[in-house]
Amino acid sequence: MAPRLAAMDDPRMPAASQRPHPTEPAGRSPDPLVSDAELTAILAIVEEARPAYLAELEALVSVDCGSYSKAGVDAVGARVAAALAGIGGLVVVHPHAELGDTVVATFAGVEDAARLLVLAHLDTVFPPGTAASRPFRLADGRATGPGVADMKSGLIAAIHALAAARAVAGPSIGRVAFVANPDEEIGSPSSTPLIRALAAETDVALVVESARANGAIVSSRKGIVELRLLVHGRAAHAGVEPEKGRSAILEAAHLVTALHALPARWPTVTCNVGVIAGGTRPNVVADEAVLEVDLRAATGPELDAALAAIHGLAAAPTVPDVTVDVVETVSWRPMEKTARSAVLVDHAEGLAARIGFQVRDVATGGASDGNTTAGMGVPTLDGLGPIAGIPHAPGEYLEVDSIVPRTALLAALIVAVSRDPSFAPGHGA
Ligand SMILES: [Zn+2]
Repeated sequence: MAPRLAAMDDPRMPAASQRPHPTEPAGRSPDPLVSDAELTAILAIVEEARPAYLAELEALVSVDCGSYSKAGVDAVGARVAAALAGIGGLVVVHPHAELGDTVVATFAGVEDAARLLVLAHLDTVFPPGTAASRPFRLADGRATGPGVADMKSGLIAAIHALAAARAVAGPSIGRVAFVANPDEEIGSPSSTPLIRALAAETDVALVVESARANGAIVSSRKGIVELRLLVHGRAAHAGVEPEKGRSAILEAAHLVTALHALPARWPTVTCNVGVIAGGTRPNVVADEAVLEVDLRAATGPELDAALAAIHGLAAAPTVPDVTVDVVETVSWRPMEKTARSAVLVDHAEGLAARIGFQVRDVATGGASDGNTTAGMGVPTLDGLGPIAGIPHAPGEYLEVDSIVPRTALLAALIVAVSRDPSFAPGHGA
């Protein structure tokens, strides 16, 4: 099928009359790293694969694959592994006893070209039975069903994009590692060591969470630390000898107030005590209390400063003789927009304009595996899947008309970044 270069029906695109033709980019110089002929070929391949994309999307959305549904996650992983092997990847499945297995595919590439890491995940946040109660549907230009937005659409787009990039430019692009992770929605506990090991020998990371509902890609994400504060007091009869008690609940109350005051000290910090528990009976001075805390910041220094402040509060309780233990249960470094990740944004903007639509980049407060790679200093760009909205909720949807343009953009970005000498090994900042 011929590519519809000037008629891509991305819903966020300007009117047809304003759309730039790929050979006449509006106001930008063409990205010389990908030729017009290559861009045209990529679009043709992606367009032709659209029916297969939708069939695979239905197949994957129809599997219950919440992070704790190992059988379902592994069923999705097996299909992804087969697809990656089918386009020339060397697939290794890293088994896990309770969580799903992690699928890693490696594609050999040109020596000295930028090495890419593509990050996708297999799991959803939904419990067993969701696929039956809210089955895949296509209507009014939208696909719906559990995980359609987060992130089956991006997962399949990444495979199709890599296939197109290799078909068009295979002999000239660098090594690509592709991770399909089974446990992103619970903080990637089993896959993070693998992702870190691969990121250590990667020049650029591309994450295929969906583009935002307004079409934006994601260049920065807040860092997140989840903490459990265990407050230890001393029990006593609340009426007979209350002076012998040390109330863990009173200390917890002081802590809640102090924790919620932290954001006032740093512009990007948020801090929320989301769970509080403690005590046994009204007539007993509480000897134990627990707080569960979500701390976020857009920059590493702010996150570290706020974290240090929390440890300081725990080390100096207000109630005498009470002690407070701090346990970090989840930790993601911020994904900050750096000078080098801004170059990735420039590539994406330029390539999108040549394909025929506009993208811009935004910051978001949620974490992804991009936080892991960016936290290691690897230039990282996220939100590279098709346009979708309302993730983690029954209303989640995918904009079907964004599949082709966004998949083509990702394929072109893989080629461009791979050929950009500023990202070649040894040229890092
Ligand atoms: Zn996701």
